[in-house]
Amino acid sequence: MTQTRATAPVVIIGAGCIGAAIAYHLGRRGVRDVVVLEREPVSGAGSTGKCAGGIRQQFSTELNVRISELSVRHYERFEAEMGSGPVFFPVGYLFLLSDEARWAAFQAQAAMQRGLGLPVQTLTPEGAGALVPQLDLDGVLGATFCSTDGLGNPHEITQAFEAQARALGARFRFGVEATGLLRDGRRVTGVQTSEGDIVTPLVVNAAGAWAAAVAEWAGVDLPVLPYRRHCFVTKPMAWIDERLPMVVDMKSGVYMHRESGGLLLGLADRDESPGFDTSTNWDFLERVVEPAMERIPALAEAEVAHGWAGLYETTPDHNAVLGPAEGVPGLMLANGFSGHGFMQAPGVGQLMAEWIVDGRPSLDLTPLRLERFRDARTVVESNVI
Ligand SMILES: Cc1cc2nc3c(=O)[nH]c(=O)nc-3n(C[C@H](O)[C@H](O)[C@H](O)COP(=O)(O)OP(=O)(O)OC[C@H]3O[C@@H](n4cnc5c(N)ncnc54)[C@H](O)[C@@H]3O)c2cc1C
Repeated sequence: MTQTRATAPVVIIGAGCIGAAIAYHLGRRGVRDVVVLEREPVSGAGSTGKCAGGIRQQFSTELNVRISELSVRHYERFEAEMGSGPVFFPVGYLFLLSDEARWAAFQAQAAMQRGLGLPVQTLTPEGAGALVPQLDLDGVLGATFCSTDGLGNPHEITQAFEAQARALGARFRFGVEATGLLRDGRRVTGVQTSEGDIVTPLVVNAAGAWAAAVAEWAGVDLPVLPYRRHCFVTKPMAWIDERLPMVVDMKSGVYMHRESGGLLLGLADRDESPGFDTSTNWDFLERVVEPAMERIPALAEAEVAHGWAGLYETTPDHNAVLGPAEGVPGLMLANGFSGHGFMQAPGVGQLMAEWIVDGRPSLDLTPLRLERFRDARTVVESNVI
């Protein structure tokens, strides 16, 4: 007796915010029976579940601004469209600048961002202090603030994408690992999994920090490296207001926002080597608290309640890699978000679904194709936290 192999019109590897958003948008565009493979028991168990929840549109490249604007439009109507609770809180992002060159660059970017429709203000230190009176603004030259940036809940958002994708016919297979790709020459024709093969004309790589391994099965060199990143959260403090914006001090790179009545503190350890270790390095806490306290002296009273680490999936130019893998029919990439995958997930979901169904996305994503690395045509995204 011959065993028939499972088939699907599209197989997505990875049920993080990106894979779940793509599955949802494919469902909205009428693609039924999309299979999403996730080796963990639930969606969002990778980097998505470790994310700080920041959602911003203040980027240095026009394309990142546009993708984030598109995503924020989705987040603004998320509750109504997805039948979820409130998941998006537009408290704004406040960037503090302390050196001349960066301040000049942020002012030029703010003009570009305003040209694209964002309500970005450039502020004096006094203006920044009016927004967050607890700040010590010593050495700060100026600030930028965008009131439509904010915070979101990564778990609820990813699970809402999953629930709505399921309602539109997608099948999420948890505890199933993709172990290889079926190929006919260069063409990808399916996925080998821990529970058998699935034949499909299209595989979407949404494997987050593990995406390079998936691409390698198809002979594709994808420059996405995993970097450990930490967050720490203090116990609740009375002065923390619900309207407190996300504060990013570009001098140290420390970022802070309200979390469960306390303050979430995050900072990238630039000395960290790539790797898949996600254990929490408590020795790093001091290096985060020090610059945070310099900006918000009230933190001297704070007690840290918990902390965790997850992985940034980082590319050399800190931009995502989106689109078909050149010379490898049957493989699409949605990888390398370099610390901004959650905020861009709804837009990326829409654009990838357009690419798959219509043959091209409604925004020109050519600058984000993998081939940019071969041609040395990369434009670096400099607003990376
Ligand atoms: C500490 C920290 C703070 C962050 N803060 C922010 C922030 O404020 N705002 C923001 O926008 N972004 C932030 N990020 C980045 C953001 O979390 C990521 O960019 C985003 O979650 C990427 O989503 P993803 O779906 O591509 O990856 P993931 O969520 O990692 O999903 C990939 C999934 O693929 C699965 N997978 C991998 N290989 C296989 C396989 N072979 N078979 C089956 N399944 C597989 C994994 O288990 C995983 O669940 C932060 C990240 C960290 C670590």
